[in-house]
Amino acid sequence: MKPVILVLGGGTGGLMTAHFLRNKLGSNCRIIVFEKEEKNVFAPSLLWLMVGKRKTKDVYRSTKLIAKKGIELIKIVLQSTKF
Ligand SMILES: Cc1cc2nc3c(=O)[nH]c(=O)nc-3n(C[C@H](O)[C@H](O)[C@H](O)COP(=O)(O)OP(=O)(O)OC[C@H]3O[C@@H](n4cnc5c(N)ncnc54)[C@H](O)[C@@H]3O)c2cc1C
Repeated sequence: MKPVILVLGGGTGGLMTAHFLRNKLGSNCRIIVFEKEEKNVFAPSLLWLMVGKRKTKDVYRSTKLIAKKGIELIKIVLQSTKF
C-alpha cells in the first residue's frame, strides 16, 4: 500500500508543500489536502486588487485545480485532529 501524506489547509503553504512533495516523491505516495474553501487566494495579490491593478479572477484559483497534479482534495472544515 502506498504511503499517504495528509496536508491540513490548502492555502499558500499547504499547496506549495503538496506540489513540492508530489514532484519530489512522484507517484509513490498519495497526497491528500484538506481545505474548507472552494477557492484559494494568493494573498500578496490582494494589494493589487485593492488598487485596481488586478481583477478578482487573477487573485483567486479553484482549489480543485490541484487534482491535475495528482493531488487529492477533500473539502472539509476540520474541527480537530487526533493522531
Ligand atoms: C495583503 C497580504 C499581502 C501579503 N504579501 C506577502 C508577500 O509579499 N510575501 C510573503 O511572503 N507573504 C505575504 N503575505 C503573507 C502570506 O500570504 C501568508 O504568510 C501565507 O498565505 C501563509 O500561508 P499559510 O499556508 O500558512 O496560510 P494560508 O495561506 O492562510 O492557508 C491556510 C489555509 O487553511 C484553510 N483552513 C483554515 N482553517 C481550516 C479548517 N478548520 N479546515 C479546513 N481548512 C482550513 C484556509 O481556508 C486556507 O486556505 C501577505 C498576506 C496578505 C494578507
